[in-house]
Amino acid sequence: MNRLQGKTAIITGASAGIGKSTAKLMAETGVDLYITGRREEKLQQLKRDLESEYGVTVTTAAFDVQNSEACSKFIGSINEPVDILVNNAGMAKGTDPVYSASFEDWNTMIDTNIKGLLYLSRLISAKMKERNYGHIINVGSIAGHESYPGGVVYTATKHAVKAITEATKKDLHGTKVRVSMVSPGLVETEFSEVRFSGDKEKADQVYKGMQPLMALDIAEIILFTANRPEHVNIMDTIVFPVDQSSSTMVHRDE
Ligand code: NAP
Repeated sequence: MNRLQGKTAIITGASAGIGKSTAKLMAETGVDLYITGRREEKLQQLKRDLESEYGVTVTTAAFDVQNSEACSKFIGSINEPVDILVNNAGMAKGTDPVYSASFEDWNTMIDTNIKGLLYLSRLISAKMKERNYGHIINVGSIAGHESYPGGVVYTATKHAVKAITEATKKDLHGTKVRVSMVSPGLVETEFSEVRFSGDKEKADQVYKGMQPLMALDIAEIILFTANRPEHVNIMDTIVFPVDQSSSTMVHRDE
């Protein structure tokens, strides 16, 4: 059953990967979209594709979620009720251990994955609470459920997303606003290329000899979560590829 037809959603980080796939599925379902990311060109292309293919209205907003003023300006520019916020924009930088990692990488991850997600949650939850309706879906990670070497700050940011999701649900207790999270394992997107600063060869090694999840696999879970009846709140869904059993246990064919 399609309960999403005619709804309006914001999807952050829709210029690539999981966000882009989620935008496609939601558009196909009849959801009008606000798609965000920093790369304006990619957002414009996606808008053209989705509007012509699915007849929905797509609005683009290119800004950096690390910038609280830009987040406020974006939310302030929306003159209609927003039913769903998919807080997906996020990234990892580097795999250095705690004793040698770069402060700059740490700040970027914390400012994007935690603070950016918080700014948008703060701004949209106020409106959803007032309207007594809405759904915030945060993209966490299995890195929010376990830590791994070389991921001291990335895993900390995703543990924070889990805490923020749970506390947001509790802050909105007694309202009809839903708060959910999806926690993927390895997904083949631009994620590893970003993590290794554009080193494609190093990024390819992450998925070598194994079948990772595709962005669509996670987009389908996000859509399923959003499409539940209004009295159902999925708190979290942990999704691994079959070839992965923990952050560090990955089965690879020789
Ligand atoms: P991706 O292909 O690199 O996409 C990341 C998206 O986030 C892009 O659209 C990017 O857009 C946007 N973004 C990054 N920093 C931003 C910023 N400062 N301001 C605005 N937008 C920003 O990676 P992905 O795998 O789809 O990642 C999506 C989410 O899934 C992230 O939260 C990630 O932590 C999570 N995740 C990924 C995996 C995985 O294995 N891939 C596993 C678990 C969780 P611009 O570059 O245009 O700004």
